[in-house]
Amino acid sequence: MMQQEFNIDDLSNEPRIKVVIRKRPVNKKEQAKSDVDIIEVKTGQSVIVKEMKQKVDLTKYVEEHLFNFDHAFGENCTNEEVYMTCVRPIVTAAFQRARVTCFAYGQTGSGKTHTMLGSVANRVPGMYVLASHDIFTALQRPQFSHLQIFISFYEIYCGKLFDLLNDRQILHPREDGKQNINIIGLMEQRITNVDQLLKIIEFGMSARVTAQNSANTDSSRSHAILQIQLKEQNNVYGKISFIDLAGSERGADVIDQNKQTRKDGAEINKSLLALKECIRALDQGKNYTPFRGSKLTLVLKDSFTGNCRTVMIGNISPCQSNSEHTLNTLRYADRVKELKKPTNQDLSEQVNQLDSLAQQLMLPRQSKNIV
Ligand code: ADP
Ligand code: MG
Repeated sequence: MMQQEFNIDDLSNEPRIKVVIRKRPVNKKEQAKSDVDIIEVKTGQSVIVKEMKQKVDLTKYVEEHLFNFDHAFGENCTNEEVYMTCVRPIVTAAFQRARVTCFAYGQTGSGKTHTMLGSVANRVPGMYVLASHDIFTALQRPQFSHLQIFISFYEIYCGKLFDLLNDRQILHPREDGKQNINIIGLMEQRITNVDQLLKIIEFGMSARVTAQNSANTDSSRSHAILQIQLKEQNNVYGKISFIDLAGSERGADVIDQNKQTRKDGAEINKSLLALKECIRALDQGKNYTPFRGSKLTLVLKDSFTGNCRTVMIGNISPCQSNSEHTLNTLRYADRVKELKKPTNQDLSEQVNQLDSLAQQLMLPRQSKNIV
């Protein structure tokens, strides 16, 4: 199904952190309301928000905001393109013993679940399934044929862990003597093919929906965590975590009148802030990672230390009506990783290097004005 073959040896000058943005298409409802598309994705890396604003005298003007990321996907790109560009490299890293994580961040309705799970009804595979195709292809190689694949699926709601594969049993993460975090009693289902993964996901998703209907929870307020472990004997060889995060706008519910909503909002806010700090620490190569800041970052401790890779996918809506949430997502993603912009000094150093190279090659320099 995927055009290019999965090439394990093709690793990788991949950065430890990648931050990408994905814009979803305008949907029918938005079209009917004549909601305007205010997002332009440029050159595969830039996102421009053309925010419509109103002055005090009611005249309208457009304020432009430009952001740059490792990659920016427009509304026409497919799950497969997202996978190939930024998720396959980390799946590859898991076969080199890394702990890797892919987050989907964004407001409710921005396309997080579409990216991770895909659309079951329309048979559009998401990251879970695309990754597992690659994993089972890799297992056909003699060097990996001894590995066994185990799946866990749980959610974090209001600071508590619920096992989606075991009757929503409440789980407790514990630190062992070696400072590893273990989730005691977490169900790990062994799978040997992609169909089994699909069944497990379906089972887990229905546990999410049931809770939503009966316990008055809401999946937009919980983080869903699907973990794929590659094990040799009983040891973890590599680990891939896919996190469909709670709706980022829920973090703002802290000022809600309703006590429970306010509590949920505070918890979500705390976990999204802690997540940002942990990824930033990883990006900056700090020794200290503040993973104790929330349950979410605590259970991901091993993915923030040592041999690890992270991809953050910021999902955004295209519409004017969502501009505030979109800008919040872009600012969050921008803060997660500060992309190094070339300074004038970098450029003049490059000119000097070119000069000395030209001298070595005895080539006449034609122009000094290349910057
Ligand atoms: P979230 O999980 O962030 O709340 P969803 O993934 O459920 O959002 O997306 C909301 C709706 O938009 C769904 O009906 C989904 O199928 C649709 N959608 C999201 N992203 C895309 C996309 N890239 N292409 C087509 N439809 C999309
Ligand atoms: Mg969702």
